[in-house]
Amino acid sequence: MTIHARRLKDLARAVRAAPLDALLVAKACNVSYLTGFTGDSSFCLVTPKRTILISDERYRIQIDDDCPNLETHIRGHDKNTYQAVAEVVANLGLRDVGIEASGVTLQEFETLRDLCKNVNLVGRTGYVEKLRAIKDESEIAALRRSISVAEKAFAAMRATLQPGDSEKQVGDLIDHYVRRAGGECVAFPPIVGVGDRSALPHMTLSDRRVEEADFLLVDWGARVGQYHSDLTRMLWAPGASRKRAVESRLRKIYTVVLEAQTRAIAALGPGVSVKVVDEAARGYIADAGYGKNFTHGLGHGIGLEIHEAPAVRSNSDDVLQAGMVVTIEPGIYLPEFGGVRIEDDVLITPGGHEILTSVPREWESLGEE
Ligand code: ZN
Ligand code: ZN
Repeated sequence: MTIHARRLKDLARAVRAAPLDALLVAKACNVSYLTGFTGDSSFCLVTPKRTILISDERYRIQIDDDCPNLETHIRGHDKNTYQAVAEVVANLGLRDVGIEASGVTLQEFETLRDLCKNVNLVGRTGYVEKLRAIKDESEIAALRRSISVAEKAFAAMRATLQPGDSEKQVGDLIDHYVRRAGGECVAFPPIVGVGDRSALPHMTLSDRRVEEADFLLVDWGARVGQYHSDLTRMLWAPGASRKRAVESRLRKIYTVVLEAQTRAIAALGPGVSVKVVDEAARGYIADAGYGKNFTHGLGHGIGLEIHEAPAVRSNSDDVLQAGMVVTIEPGIYLPEFGGVRIEDDVLITPGGHEILTSVPREWESLGEE
């Protein structure tokens, strides 16, 4: 059985158990996960017995290439995609149909509901995401390639980083080197925070030059084979004066974040609640006196999306299972001084875990003394 056939079989079982007559898969990455079809603007209707890809003429050749054995309903230009969906649903005589709530806008949902007469169309979430949380061998291999490309791009960026480069230009360098290293694109617009701007966990890149402060935070990743990697490292700014007071303060919080991350990673394994992992880092940071400065969740799954199941945070009931790949990214953010975040990607294995990322993270790795 192919990987796509196995995934569709698992989903069909969940649809039957729901119980639903069908699930209309609307998110492009979920359609791709289930069928191998890499285009967009298409729906995949999954009943307990059949799978139908609903698409249009533009994608006919791509469908023949990506998933030649799949049953399809290709609409002509005289119908829109919602009319095509309604036609298939009516032809099959379906009554209770779930639609992926996160894959359509409210407007699209209302349009479909009006077109699907005598059908109970209800929003549903998490069916495919639950399957996606556990990666198979091919997905783990894609994530390894994605991490490798991200790490090569980071090394190349570091080798060419100039004191006069702005945050935007550092972002451009990463973007450029990700493609040169064989990536499709960056996993997300890189975050580059120079000096006190590193205390803003998510911000847009500015014209601040790296030499205007002593250090910078870089959060970046690559997309390879549709899979996303996600890392964060701190760097000394080349050409910066490295004031002693700044160095000792940064070292203090860096050491706490690194130890918190090390403890959280050590806690990772199958059967472990994500709450326990979050607490391993959060408790340590709080005991060090920085509890209120760690303002976000500890981590998240990565895969076809940059943020996916499981959430690694205190308010999640998720339990880790072998095959999950998660980021572990504690941080301490001090307003007007700066922030430290260290982020790595970790595979949960039957016996514990494997850290997939390999960029050094000890204090000395920030730059030459
Ligand atoms: Zn990140
Ligand atoms: Zn992340």
